Amino acid sequence: MLDVAIVGAGLSGLICAQQLRRSGYQVALIEKSRGLGGRLATRRLPNTCADHGVRFLDEQGTRTGELIQAGRDRNLLQAWTDSEHQLNGELGSTAVPPRYAAADGMTAIAKALATQLEIHHSLRVVQLAAGESWRLTCESGEAFEARSIGLAIPAPQAATLIESIAFPPTDLLTQVRSVEFDPCLTVIATYDRKYQAEVESLPWRSIEVNHDDVTWIGIDSSKRKNSAAPVMVLHSSAEFALRFLEAEDLQAIANHLLDCASNLLPWLNQPEILQIHRWRYAFVRRACPDLTLLATHPLPIACCGDWCGGTNVEAALRSGEATAAQINQLLDDRTVPPLDFAAILDES
Ligand SMILES: Cc1cc2nc3c(=O)[nH]c(=O)nc-3n(C[C@H](O)[C@H](O)[C@H](O)COP(=O)(O)OP(=O)(O)OC[C@H]3O[C@@H](n4cnc5c(N)ncnc54)[C@H](O)[C@@H]3O)c2cc1C
Repeated sequence: MLDVAIVGAGLSGLICAQQLRRSGYQVALIEKSRGLGGRLATRRLPNTCADHGVRFLDEQGTRTGELIQAGRDRNLLQAWTDSEHQLNGELGSTAVPPRYAAADGMTAIAKALATQLEIHHSLRVVQLAAGESWRLTCESGEAFEARSIGLAIPAPQAATLIESIAFPPTDLLTQVRSVEFDPCLTVIATYDRKYQAEVESLPWRSIEVNHDDVTWIGIDSSKRKNSAAPVMVLHSSAEFALRFLEAEDLQAIANHLLDCASNLLPWLNQPEILQIHRWRYAFVRRACPDLTLLATHPLPIACCGDWCGGTNVEAALRSGEATAAQINQLLDDRTVPPLDFAAILDES
């Protein structure tokens, strides 16, 4: 019997779990994918990698500021760029607060934050049932019993799980259903090393593109010292992703997105490796105002994520922290230590 079962090992779930573990609770994370980090995601490629989820960390508020500081002090994060270029007919540039990236890929942050946690991978929770305690059943048939549940997953996925409860808490369900997400298709492309010198001489590392189909292009390989060949990451617009999310031939979609970008660099549509990732729930379009959504009947259940009290990484961190505090109050009301990224990273 767990004190807390947390569904989802993205940033919000990891922080919620750490805060509860550090308060002495028996807590486990159940994660549907093989890895962890959720939308903080890195794809392994031959001799390199690419971030197809969160592109960089910047100081969006106190918690991202503290995470960046702790990550920099431990050489987990390095400064990547402090300018953003725009392509709107002509190439323009604006100064932005420093952006940080991890040379080993952004999932290195999630891995470091997951230290000491009990994580069950490759298990998708499909049903919640309340009796004496919660029972969480996975697609595989495996089940977990817990006194309380944290749902650290995008709102539409949380709604589906809440709906599976025999008598679902209606207020909670209404609030969760009010949240909306935009999808995104992310393209990862690697190129011949003959283009590396040209890429190194470019004035930009990332570009916001004013185009119907492509919105952002980043030189992902510029996050890594001594990169031998260019690796690019492109994000589609939400409208484009909505139209082609279910497309069978995603490779053709990836080629189209590269074609759209090839007025920038003519060889962009001649990749060596081309991959595309479908993010059904990429960016929060409409958030809920609270850091935590909570119900106490039939048993304690709480929701957290970037869609609670914000729309980005800062919200995910703050929401995970606030949700741990709320769950603690409903369970044993112990002393929860302040969120301390340095202490968590030092345990790894
Ligand atoms: C392409 C892209 C680029 C982005 N760039 C930035 C950026 O530059 N800056 C920024 O601030 N934000 C960015 N974001 C947003 C950022 O990724 C999120 O705000 C943040 O990572 C959300 O964390 P989370 O814990 O709330 O959710 P998630 O990271 O989505 O974590 C949820 C986890 O739950 C798991 N899960 C879902 N359902 C189940 C289930 N039934 N059973 C078990 N596990 C389940 C998922 O596999 C996932 O691991 C970007 C997002 C995308 C997609």
